[in-house]
Amino acid sequence: MTAMATDDGVRTDRGALAVALAEARAGRAEGGIPIGAALVVDGEVLAVGRNRRVQDASPILHGETDCLANAGRLPASVYARATMVTTLSPCDMCTGAILLYGIPRVVIGENRTFLGGEELLRSRGVEVVVLDDPACVELMRDFVAAEPALWNEDIGED
Ligand SMILES: [Zn+2]
Repeated sequence: MTAMATDDGVRTDRGALAVALAEARAGRAEGGIPIGAALVVDGEVLAVGRNRRVQDASPILHGETDCLANAGRLPASVYARATMVTTLSPCDMCTGAILLYGIPRVVIGENRTFLGGEELLRSRGVEVVVLDDPACVELMRDFVAAEPALWNEDIGED
């Protein structure tokens, strides 16, 4: 389980996004896909995660699912107070995980590079906040330009 003390600013969506973005950058530094996530409960970061497709040769550890795994088993009452913060619009798999565990709020760094299941989330009553953060856009734009094949693999395209 990964847990972090509350840092200044984590109580805001942008503060939490900065934590997720640091995960994304750490993933890129490892040669991975730069998508990070943080699970925030009651204003504190309960866990963080990052896409581990390359690092762990994993098809299922995206930023959000790695974050949920790092958070460990939680009661439904905790998920019900949680916000999933992710640097990139969540794919169908991560959208499903958010719905499965009843996480009521999702904060998204950007959806220009990839538009995931935002409509489905909204249709199921999840609050979706898109911050359209320039640093998140730049990180993904640079990555997709540098590693197009790796990016297509991650989103299930040839
Ligand atoms: Zn995903």
